[in-house]
Amino acid sequence: MSRPWHSFRRSGWRSALYAAIVSCSFLWLESSVAMGRRHSIPDLIEQAELVVVGTVTESLVFRRLPSGSVYTAVTLQLGETLKGPWQTPIEILVPGGRLEEEDLAVWVSHQPRFFLGERVLAALRKSPFGDDRFLVLGGAEGKVRLHEATHPKAGDSALSFFQRVAPPEQREGSPSARLKRSQNPFDFLSIAVHEQGHFAGPLGDLYNNAEEGGGAYIECIGSNNQEKTMYGVIGPGSTRPRDLEQADRLGMRALYGGLFLPLPTGSVNENLFAYFCASGSPELTCSSAACEPRVHWASIPVAYKIRTSDFSAEQVQLLQRGLGVWNRINGSSFSGDYRGDTEIDVASVDDNVNVFRVSDADNSDDNAVFTGGALAVTSFAWFISSGEIADSDITFNHRTDFQPALPVPPTPTPDPDTGDGGGCGTITPPATPLTRSLGLLLLLTLVTFALARIRGSVQPHEAPEEHYSDKSHFFL
Ligand SMILES: [Zn+2]
Repeated sequence: MSRPWHSFRRSGWRSALYAAIVSCSFLWLESSVAMGRRHSIPDLIEQAELVVVGTVTESLVFRRLPSGSVYTAVTLQLGETLKGPWQTPIEILVPGGRLEEEDLAVWVSHQPRFFLGERVLAALRKSPFGDDRFLVLGGAEGKVRLHEATHPKAGDSALSFFQRVAPPEQREGSPSARLKRSQNPFDFLSIAVHEQGHFAGPLGDLYNNAEEGGGAYIECIGSNNQEKTMYGVIGPGSTRPRDLEQADRLGMRALYGGLFLPLPTGSVNENLFAYFCASGSPELTCSSAACEPRVHWASIPVAYKIRTSDFSAEQVQLLQRGLGVWNRINGSSFSGDYRGDTEIDVASVDDNVNVFRVSDADNSDDNAVFTGGALAVTSFAWFISSGEIADSDITFNHRTDFQPALPVPPTPTPDPDTGDGGGCGTITPPATPLTRSLGLLLLLTLVTFALARIRGSVQPHEAPEEHYSDKSHFFL
């Protein structure tokens, strides 16, 4: 692993929550993309609690307590509300961000990007933190950049406006949407190998055009990327990313071997890859551009653990086989070393343990990352000054139908003392008498809640649990 995690915690990250950094010049929020399902626009609108048109006016990076997870809060001044009640400004949470004070950047795959001054259409859902903030639905799909002259027409519904301004591919439905709907689950090993490319390099996602990649497409990568393991699109049943292509190997040789950058563009486009520039903004960089320092593992082999209770025995084997694909590359010194089981059940940038795990329906950070579409995400943190990776975790979405399948979680058994469900990591705190200040806090909360209802604030609705298999069309 790189240098000890505590070495960049000395600045006191708890204080960073209060003295959070305002990114004044350029809002670089990173960035797609894990592999995932492409939403249909009607689905997106149906699931949204708020669909708005607004302008990005501010961003603030902070750690959310108690998990310490890094988020960027994006302030949107609203122009129009197409679904849900009017309220302005609103704040949108995006997982990841850059904490300059801590010399730390956090990248989480499949997240939308916002830029200061940008005018956007966004499909939003209440954040799971009870903080009046919102999340973008479907990762990058739920946000569309608008040209200045693009306004809703009189009588436009949220659906009709979204369909009119969305990227053409999304608007028309994906190519595979025209195919017979598949009942196929997703190939677990393929998803693992792709995510492990984000883990190992880290390498970035590749797309063939801007419509495919939304805000994550980089021009110099061009097209014909569909055979590469780091191509960010996958369909159910596809086993394409199980193996590496030339471009994936070149990426690892550039990061952990003697390959010289920049690679040329043009006729050798099929060899291009994307990597992360530690201090770039945005970080994702083409191999046709040279940037130092690159985000990289400073200490090889890289130790990783698997939360084995989340997976079947076969999947535990496949995870090791998947990372082994990245170990055996000529001209790259990278290797990963499996260090066994872990009880850790969070994707944390603070624990110095690299863990492969499955999301948990009760974990708010997981719910903030999986707002629809992503089958798995990789999140990693690096020191901005050196590019050395501090921590990287892969989280598989428990809503995805994989082949082989995830084990079915045990049904909680009622606790005879409390009648509550037990197990599943739920900790019930001992009952304590309310202090006077707690009582006041409760009263204030109730008053605020009542006022919010009077003003017609958005109330979160319980969306039905979605499962990613047969409804899926096209994958990002
Ligand atoms: Zn990806």
